[in-house]
Amino acid sequence: MDLPQKGGCLCGAVRFTVNNEPAIMGVCHCRDCQMASGASHATQLALSADGVEIAGETRSYARPADSGNVVHRHFCAVCGCGTHSTNDAMPGMIFLRGIHLDDPEQFQPAMEVYTASRPSWGGRFEVGASFEQMPPAAEMPV
Ligand SMILES: [Zn+2]
Ligand SMILES: [Zn+2]
Repeated sequence: MDLPQKGGCLCGAVRFTVNNEPAIMGVCHCRDCQMASGASHATQLALSADGVEIAGETRSYARPADSGNVVHRHFCAVCGCGTHSTNDAMPGMIFLRGIHLDDPEQFQPAMEVYTASRPSWGGRFEVGASFEQMPPAAEMPV
């Protein structure tokens, strides 16, 4: 990915700048990501939180993932568009949505997870690694 990259929410009240190379770029087909995105998958761009600047007011909704770890999903206080998420099990990491980059071409997913909940018409990806659930950390292709 070329750095820095900028992106934001639907209305522009929340803007972010990515200054560090992402640790993971992948798509997630889990039910929570489907509900939060309104699509068959979410475009997850994960990196260390100190590599991201976020400007603008967000609110958040916390909910345990199937692992039991609480995921905090932040969204724009004006337009409701999801902006980023954090996971209590991964302190210091932040998850942006690759599709929210001003240049979505910069998002290049290398893996997909939770394909078990992908509907028959859901997005298909030519990625290096595909998992029916969340893989153990040791199998993560990063
Ligand atoms: Zn907004
Ligand atoms: Zn998900």
